[in-house]
Amino acid sequence: MSPRELVILGTASQVPTRTRNHNGYFLSWDGEGILFDPGDGTQRQMAHAGVAASDITRICLTHFHGDHCLGLPGVVQRLSLDRAPHPVNAHFPATGTAYFERLRHASAFHDVADIRPEPIDGDATIAERRQWTLEAKRLDHGIDCFGYRLVERDGRRMLPELLGARGVHGPAVGVLQREGAVTVDGDTISLADVSEVRRGQRFAFVMDTRLCAGVRELADGADLLVIESTYLDVDAGLAEAHGHLTAGQAARVAAECGVRTLVLTHFSQRYDDPALFAREAGSFFDGEVVVAEDLTRIPVPARRP
Ligand SMILES: [Zn+2]
Repeated sequence: MSPRELVILGTASQVPTRTRNHNGYFLSWDGEGILFDPGDGTQRQMAHAGVAASDITRICLTHFHGDHCLGLPGVVQRLSLDRAPHPVNAHFPATGTAYFERLRHASAFHDVADIRPEPIDGDATIAERRQWTLEAKRLDHGIDCFGYRLVERDGRRMLPELLGARGVHGPAVGVLQREGAVTVDGDTISLADVSEVRRGQRFAFVMDTRLCAGVRELADGADLLVIESTYLDVDAGLAEAHGHLTAGQAARVAAECGVRTLVLTHFSQRYDDPALFAREAGSFFDGEVVVAEDLTRIPVPARRP
């Protein structure tokens, strides 16, 4: 598995179809494995996609409608069966804690997995590592719903020409990187003199919601944005009434927010031609548009130059 990629496990909203499983998405990011919104059938889809239960280090649920959580019992029992050797943090809206507990303990099994519930009750940074943060932001869907984004911290890219010009070679480069400055022949060189900012990458996950501030905050500058587009613009009234987005709305947000790769998913079973979603999105957004299909893999795009 490539170090940073998204595995699409399912792409149907409410009702699975012959070609689309209920939702399910697995993000692999430098050894972290985040399972988002495991709908019904996720365990089987993982087998088809080659994702092992022990690859999961974290589970993020946006909300407790069935297409986003009915697969949780199978996944947690499989984590136990496979003796996953690490803790698995589970993030979900705090008001759905009763649902979480029911799904977590849905039937009899030998329960040995170390699953750590972490309910969310407002916009927050929910996990931090040296290289990245994971944030949750409130969406607008009738019942409590949170989207997520993973933000890699900015780093610095060394510029070999400038290093050479200032006479920084060999071990001095390491000293400069560790300490932020180095002295060569009486000349003090700082990191900023010989490097530039290397912008961190961003992944965003936006499920069931109307347009709201949270959608834009999550999408802001995303290299890869996974976003629901249950409807097409022709059914914008239905989208508003049921707390969903259209492909056109998702694409306009992506264009406004500087997204690079736009992944549309969570399609209503009322449409049978996926090309309609690509066409509608493409008329508002110049970047890459992917109409998600089950069991496909989408790499996080290469770093911006
Ligand atoms: Zn849904």
